[in-house]
Amino acid sequence: MACDLCDNTGGKLLWQGERLRVVYIDEPGYVGYCRVIWQAHVAEMTDLDEVSRAHCMRVVFTVESVLRDLLKPDKINLASLGNFTPHVHWHVIARFRDDAHFPQAIWGERQREATARETADLADNLAQALSARLRD
Ligand SMILES: [Zn+2]
Repeated sequence: MACDLCDNTGGKLLWQGERLRVVYIDEPGYVGYCRVIWQAHVAEMTDLDEVSRAHCMRVVFTVESVLRDLLKPDKINLASLGNFTPHVHWHVIARFRDDAHFPQAIWGERQREATARETADLADNLAQALSARLRD
């Protein structure tokens, strides 16, 4: 069966190890939208053994920390849905009070036009900060 996250990187690659990769989603109106994707096709967190689950969450929290350091967002959103793509991945999203959907989820009803933010070097800075902090 075709799986989008098995067939594609799923965003701009920031870091990858044997078990996980971190990608940046270039979504207009959002800065600091990352995904942490398990490399193998696994549907649920509980399909992973405990060590793997802990490793996955360590990477998710490292991405959260790096986003907080670089962007000073008003909130971080963590989400694991996978209804359309049942392949373990976490959305780690920096949120700002003036982004298009705040306080709704980014998949919710649009609230306003997003305030533009400088993002020129963001993906490079994220990649650099993640390689300094992550080990596979
Ligand atoms: Zn897959």
